[in-house]
Amino acid sequence: MDYDVIIIGAGPGGIFAAYELKKKSPALKVAVFESGHRLEDRKCPIDGVKIKNCVHCKSCSIMSGFGGAGAFSDGKYNITNDFGGTLYEHIGKDEALSLMKYVDTINLEHGGEGTKLYSTTNTNLKKICLQNKLQLLDASVRHLGTDINYIVLKEIYSELESKVDFFFMTPVDSITRTSGGFEIHTADKTYTCGKCIISVGRIGSKWMERICNDLDIPTRSNRVDIGVRVELPAVLFAHLTDELYESKIVYRTEKFEDKVRTFCMNPYGSVVTENTNGIVTVNGHSFEDPKKRTDNTNFALLVAKHFSEPFKDSNGYGESIARLSNMLGGGVIVQRFGDIIRGRRSTAKRIGENFVVPTLQAEPGDLSLVLPKRIMDGILEMIYALDKIAPGTANDDTLLYGVEVKFYNMEVDVNENLETRYPGLYIIGDGSGVTHSLSHASASGVYVAQQIIDSD
Ligand SMILES: Cc1cc2nc3c(=O)[nH]c(=O)nc-3n(C[C@H](O)[C@H](O)[C@H](O)COP(=O)(O)OP(=O)(O)OC[C@H]3O[C@@H](n4cnc5c(N)ncnc54)[C@H](O)[C@@H]3O)c2cc1C
Repeated sequence: MDYDVIIIGAGPGGIFAAYELKKKSPALKVAVFESGHRLEDRKCPIDGVKIKNCVHCKSCSIMSGFGGAGAFSDGKYNITNDFGGTLYEHIGKDEALSLMKYVDTINLEHGGEGTKLYSTTNTNLKKICLQNKLQLLDASVRHLGTDINYIVLKEIYSELESKVDFFFMTPVDSITRTSGGFEIHTADKTYTCGKCIISVGRIGSKWMERICNDLDIPTRSNRVDIGVRVELPAVLFAHLTDELYESKIVYRTEKFEDKVRTFCMNPYGSVVTENTNGIVTVNGHSFEDPKKRTDNTNFALLVAKHFSEPFKDSNGYGESIARLSNMLGGGVIVQRFGDIIRGRRSTAKRIGENFVVPTLQAEPGDLSLVLPKRIMDGILEMIYALDKIAPGTANDDTLLYGVEVKFYNMEVDVNENLETRYPGLYIIGDGSGVTHSLSHASASGVYVAQQIIDSD
């Protein structure tokens, strides 16, 4: 065997698997294959001046490379079983929470010390939410911020660099089984290993689907979340964000009884674009460093869409809606809440005169031409509900960017060890469909590493 363990993907799942393997069993020969760049070479060419829109790089530096999709994220590690994935369904709630806390200690040891841990325990905001038909989910949130998150990744990489063989810009093409393990095929060469951990994230979803087909690994898929990113003056949400940083609030619409939730809240942050397989959607982040803060807070409002048989392509549905916004706006569309309510598009003039200054240069337009009515109605209902706990949310000047789509990878059939039907082949992180967050993906990496060490 070339390696005891090969890890595919250097996102949080892959990184924490490698970290734990080398920490607990230094003699193991471990390699990590990553289709993107090393951390310091990850640069998105969009500078807002010369290059304003996505130029579809061969490897997207926002989503790929050391650190995975999380590298330039807000670095919010949510320590909870209430959202961020269903890891607990496989490994149990106590184990999942304890691994997320363990990941937190590793982050603190690698540059994250001094960052704030927020918590919903004992907050009065829960009652205020309930009084207004909103539910605040329980969580502790470690906010590293984009800047500290980068430092943590840099420190972990420098610790692993000499112990693990990293192959950057080396996408794995396929995997075949051998009598004693697996063959990992890249464009130039084939490598052998006893055990293989796949952690390819959201960007690897299509690849994962192909591998599951090739290896006859069962999968399920029926959910996509669609919505917008809301941007408003940070002071309007300060009573929530100062205490909780990120509040996950759920609302059930009166019209359709759909669930709408807040997602990825970025106090004093910026709205950014995201490229998934060539489709430009919207996201957000913020910095821990007060000097890099803006006057705005942004968060997503997402409507969960579950499909029933015979429809199977939930991600395809989300992609089509995102494509529609790309077709109309060349990328992300921005619209004032007041314009939506008046049934008119936003124009450059109206955005220019708006009290809330957008942090992302997006095309002023009409989101009602993009989002299905049911989803749009859910978002508007939720904005009015939030207006009761954070007055001003439903102001005319509130900005809505679209579309934000949360693609869920199909859920791969893995057992309580996160192992497929083939012993030694593990699928973890967002690519498995089991996790959807930094903390759950990282915890799944540690968990599988511990399973491998214990089984040796
Ligand atoms: C802008 C943004 C902000 C976010 N903010 C937060 C946040 O604040 N908090 C939070 O909890 N979550 C956040 N997320 C989500 C979070 O980043 C992911 O949940 C997390 O990164 C998943 O980790 P992962 O290891 O499973 O996959 P990823 O991080 O997606 O990493 C997978 C890696 O595998 C590589 N890969 C894919 N296919 C192959 C192949 N065939 N061969 C080799 N390599 C391959 C990819 O290049 C990638 O680097 C954010 C995401 C984005 C995009």
